[in-house]
Amino acid sequence: AASGRPGPPPKQSVPGVRHVIAVGSGKGGVGKSTVAANLALALEAEGLKVGLLDADLYGPSVPRLLGLEGKPAVREDGIFSPHEAHGLKAMSIGAMLDPGQAVVWRGPMATSALRQLLRETDWGGLDALIVDLPPGTGDIHISLFQQTEVSGAVIVSTPQELALSDARKAIDMIRRMGVPLLGLIENMSFFIAPDTGKRYDIFGTGGARQAAGDLGIPFLGEIPLVMSIRERSDAGTPVMIAEPDGPEAQAFQAIAQKIL
Ligand code: ADP
Repeated sequence: AASGRPGPPPKQSVPGVRHVIAVGSGKGGVGKSTVAANLALALEAEGLKVGLLDADLYGPSVPRLLGLEGKPAVREDGIFSPHEAHGLKAMSIGAMLDPGQAVVWRGPMATSALRQLLRETDWGGLDALIVDLPPGTGDIHISLFQQTEVSGAVIVSTPQELALSDARKAIDMIRRMGVPLLGLIENMSFFIAPDTGKRYDIFGTGGARQAAGDLGIPFLGEIPLVMSIRERSDAGTPVMIAEPDGPEAQAFQAIAQKIL
């Protein structure tokens, strides 16, 4: 103001939501959406009211992950009533498209779609809204972080250097946008062969823990590569719900407790 130039417009909170928590990754395919859904369910198991917003507009996974069917209802005043699945409130652009229909939008349309999903939905009083971001650092990220009060961001990576080098860029962006970094989650950390019990470090080991240490951000935990995580996700009942007492669910629960 002293320079006479107007500052950026103030960040807005999301109506009916206490904390917005973004889940991002550098690369696609590292399990960001899988982690976002299970983390949302783990926070719910801690007694919070939780929602999941699919902001991965070009590759929405939430409808399949949570088994959402049909389009969300629209109230008379034009506000969306979100889907409800496994106790979560959920919104995804994927649920508004016809099967196989691609989103072919330039940046401004994508950001206005995100704005609508975020602000024109009746979230109905959530403690936390988990936002599943697209991979990388694009328009959606910039508009979310500039316009919305985001309480924190979590980054998901595999232990592989190829994924970590992009995760570092995502972390750099989040830092520059002034959003608190809650930490780094390593997914697909190792594989235990169910028949022999032998451990395989398919994407290497310990890479994310090391990277988090180097970057000075918390390391939140390791999620192994497990067939049931993939199968349960494909079936629309994430492992947190399908096998709540299993080791995978416990790993997600431990991460949720760290970010509470
Ligand atoms: P992203 O959101 O990063 O693109 P997804 O969450 O869609 O990644 O995951 C990519 C694929 O890997 C999906 O088929 C998913 O079911 C599977 N997957 C993710 N994490 C695991 C895991 N820990 N164990 C087994 N399969 C996983």
